[in-house]
Amino acid sequence: MVTVLQIALFLVGILFVAYFLRKFLIQTLNHQKATNLWWVTRSLDREARKQNSCHVLKTLEDMELEDCKIEIVTPTCESGLPHTSDAHTIRMTEDVWNSGTRDSTLKHERIHILQRRYPAEWRRFYEEHWGYTLHVAPPHKLPKNDAERFRANPDTAAEPWCCWQNRYWFAPLYHTPEQPKLLGVDVKAWDAHEERWLQDPPEEWRHLFCGDGKCPHQWEHPHEIAAELWTADAFHTPAGYSLKKFMNHLLSLQ
Ligand SMILES: [Zn+2]
Repeated sequence: MVTVLQIALFLVGILFVAYFLRKFLIQTLNHQKATNLWWVTRSLDREARKQNSCHVLKTLEDMELEDCKIEIVTPTCESGLPHTSDAHTIRMTEDVWNSGTRDSTLKHERIHILQRRYPAEWRRFYEEHWGYTLHVAPPHKLPKNDAERFRANPDTAAEPWCCWQNRYWFAPLYHTPEQPKLLGVDVKAWDAHEERWLQDPPEEWRHLFCGDGKCPHQWEHPHEIAAELWTADAFHTPAGYSLKKFMNHLLSLQ
């Protein structure tokens, strides 16, 4: 005969199993979502992200940008570098969130959100005012080994390659390909006319983008330059001035 105690134990057992099943499913789904790295295609990029599991620890609403959320992720996610994962999601670690750089990081990442939301507008702006075209693939004559050293970036994933004035291809390259690290890159410019790498951006580029003895640090891609200039309120250069005008137009679309 089944006693009350046996029924109670049976029910507790079911609850126990249901609890762990739910936990397992949530973890698996989060993991699948987090490891959807479709934009990581090269072997050095995979190697650099080998230990980089991304788990979402907490989700917060962005109070400034509509339809945008902030995911607090594990410190290993993109080696702790803040980034966006789609047109509605900014990701950063708890350390960055609790640091003094939270506001400037959010300002920077919101530009990447707008770049994801309005790709055609940005492309047109880059072509007409900054002299850039964006591309999904490197130039034909770039040696394969060099192209393999290109570090993928989630914020430029749709069109990671950029060409300035139909000649210079800027690229973040892994500094030590034998041991690639996301933070260990050198930005260089491939001169497609002379078929060689330049250590620094060309002089004509500096006239457009540099001022008061300062140039953008993240000159690897116009998406990064735009986010950097906007975050620093650096509008005193010709590039900064046109960016400010463009942003006024873009924000009116929101
Ligand atoms: Zn960025």
